[in-house]
Amino acid sequence: MHIHNYINGHLTPAQSGNYLDNYDPSTGNVYSHIPDSDAADVQAAVEAAEKAFPAWSTCGLQERYRILHRIADLIQEQVEELAQAESRDSGKAISTSRTVDIPRAQANFRFFATAILHFSSESHHIEGQAINFTLRQPIGVVGCISPWNLPLYLFTWKIAPALAAGNCVVAKPSELTPMTAFLLSKICMEAGLPAGVLNIVHGLGPKAGQAIVEHPKIKAISFTGGTATGRILARTAAPMFKKLSLELGGKNPNLIFADCNFEEAVSTTVRSSFANNGQICLCGSRVYIERPLYEKFRNELVRRVRQLKVGDPFNDDTNMGALVSKQHKEKVMGYLSLAKEEGGAILCGGESVELPGGLSGGYYLSPAVVEGLPNTCRTNQEEIFGPVVTLQPFDTEEEAIAMANGVEYGLASTIWTQDISRASRVAERIQAGIVWVNCWLLRDLRTPFGGVKNSGVGREGGTEALRFFTEAKNVCIKYS
Ligand code: NDP
Repeated sequence: MHIHNYINGHLTPAQSGNYLDNYDPSTGNVYSHIPDSDAADVQAAVEAAEKAFPAWSTCGLQERYRILHRIADLIQEQVEELAQAESRDSGKAISTSRTVDIPRAQANFRFFATAILHFSSESHHIEGQAINFTLRQPIGVVGCISPWNLPLYLFTWKIAPALAAGNCVVAKPSELTPMTAFLLSKICMEAGLPAGVLNIVHGLGPKAGQAIVEHPKIKAISFTGGTATGRILARTAAPMFKKLSLELGGKNPNLIFADCNFEEAVSTTVRSSFANNGQICLCGSRVYIERPLYEKFRNELVRRVRQLKVGDPFNDDTNMGALVSKQHKEKVMGYLSLAKEEGGAILCGGESVELPGGLSGGYYLSPAVVEGLPNTCRTNQEEIFGPVVTLQPFDTEEEAIAMANGVEYGLASTIWTQDISRASRVAERIQAGIVWVNCWLLRDLRTPFGGVKNSGVGREGGTEALRFFTEAKNVCIKYS
């Protein structure tokens, strides 16, 4: 099966005619081929987007709302087909694709279709002299680049606000998980999205992705991916004065105080550690437990993690499917060896899982819980982005905050306590863009989303996204 680019309203191969292999992580076999696009394909996509921009940016909010809503309807109608494709491409459990990835992709389009109708700008009155009003106008052609962990979910999280705000888009999904972006191309054609408004270019990051970032006609880049890649993007885009939104890696802390609701804290910590095989930027990977609760919490967590079922992503009762690629599995296993070298004890998991028959070549790994490591070691400092968490005890609130903040990242965090004053105090001092108290991944699409420190620059979500994808222009009118 051959995937195609979506350029100027048509499905086309790369101009070079070259393809890359696309692997099914559940079997380790190649199951499709994707265009190995380069700067020539990006150039064609930019030209199509430039041509489409005048009409799309002036067609009226109602028209943009109507088409984006139609795309959401079609995603909803095709939820099963899209979920199957997402699990085939990424190895994730089908239950996750069905209940998280695809419904959220649909919600992204529906949310921003509506949000643009309510988007307003400011006015500032200089009493007796003048009125300022601010126009928030679409930028033009913008680039959206997304990772493999939540493929359609994160792809649409960028595309939907960019289109709603009146921009035309050149987008690239991860080369590891291109399938649902390809299916989205077909949905956009069916929904009547005008040619060139959205262009999807498949291929390698350093080739097709880099060509998007370097293109002088692309005025803004919204990127989600690793911190190292974010640095490369910033280096390229900053001298060109492009607008940049960078959503990068994380090493998120979970703070468990002894007065927490034990059942909720432990069951949610299993989820926040191992959902999607720990391959969610918001997953907690460092669990800090107040010492009086440490042993009880650790024992119960380990007992429940042992019950998680690693298996065929297409079985309804599988909790954890395959990791996304052979290289990624090797990277995660490398960190488990490092954890042992650094003196950690692996309390459960961390072993390669061999499944029978056609699944024997898949990239399966049992979920691991590690204890006994200092906060400063590499295992506790670097992003692993897999099914591995570390446990550490703490004695005081001060110590917990210091350990939570003692890394270069600052994306998300969770706090578990029944004491509202403590929750508020700690939330204020945690260095993170997102703090969940007594919950995890409770998402409201209107809220600002993003990180601090090495977890990124800028915010997505709600009004923040619409502001990113528009330029503010102030008009000052002096009274006569
Ligand atoms: P990468 O940084 O490797 O890739 C992200 C995207 O960038 C891919 O589409 C990739 O293409 C592309 N890319 C790679 N190199 C370049 C380049 N030089 N120029 C332009 N584009 C390029 O990240 P992963 O896909 O491995 O995703 C995992 C990372 O994403 C983790 O660090 C995770 O924390 C982070 N993440 C952050 C989130 C957040 O909201 N903060 C949310 C989800 C994930 P290709 O795949 O072809 O290499």
